[in-house]
Amino acid sequence: MHVLIDIGVNLAHESFAEDRAEVIARARAAGVAAMIVTGSTLADSAGAIALCREFPGVLRATVGVHPHHATTLQAGDAPLLAELLADPMTVAAGECGLDYYRNYSPPAEQRRAFELQLALAGQHGRPLFLHQREAHADFLAMLREHPGVATRAVLHCFTDGVAELEECLAAGLCIGVTGWVCDERRGGALRAALPRIPDDRLMLETDGPYLLPRTIQPKPAHRRNEPMYLPVVLDEVARCRGQAPTEVAALTTANACRFFGFTLREQALAAGGVIYVLA
Ligand SMILES: [Zn+2]
Repeated sequence: MHVLIDIGVNLAHESFAEDRAEVIARARAAGVAAMIVTGSTLADSAGAIALCREFPGVLRATVGVHPHHATTLQAGDAPLLAELLADPMTVAAGECGLDYYRNYSPPAEQRRAFELQLALAGQHGRPLFLHQREAHADFLAMLREHPGVATRAVLHCFTDGVAELEECLAAGLCIGVTGWVCDERRGGALRAALPRIPDDRLMLETDGPYLLPRTIQPKPAHRRNEPMYLPVVLDEVARCRGQAPTEVAALTTANACRFFGFTLREQALAAGGVIYVLA
């Protein structure tokens, strides 16, 4: 079994309200040793930190405001955001960025909220967990204004093709890949781009409860994605890159530990076998 880290799962989401502990246990049984809980609003980020305190050996949090919710972030929230960023359970600022696909918040508001979070991440020396959809040019232009944070940032759920990838890599970004890669209808550009991601810039994520991989066999009766399906993403990423799953598992886990600044400590079980614990 591969030892994996899910760098983006929305475990504070209400769809996990009834069975979070089981979801975490199933993930660990599938080899997902650690998970990073995505914060997408201020309340949600505080919830992510609280969840980490319940499972300190398994979970860490990101703290930020998703571009969909940009209008909810006011300049006066900066002290609260800074406080959440300083929490020992927090490993990155985000998710933050730009999403012009549906423009749930107006683009100008998205840019304002993103700029605020870029500046804050820089001040607090935190890595960044980024979101971008249909906003590639503006997104990169803003990152280029913050070269110090861009080289400590991961663009989560990358879905674009080779041209966009090359620009993101040149800006210094790491790349997070989800089950989007398993989507035969819309994953083609991503599959073609995957071999171009350097070994030391690649990480894996489920983005659960979203993006249930379409290659899961047999197909689950439900639509909810959860971290135990990360090995399905691993297999497809390895296939597209022409690497063995073992190799991709080892390098993505090492990348996540280095990027987020934690280690996985092996702990022997009395009953035999080992588990991994975040330290
Ligand atoms: Zn996202």
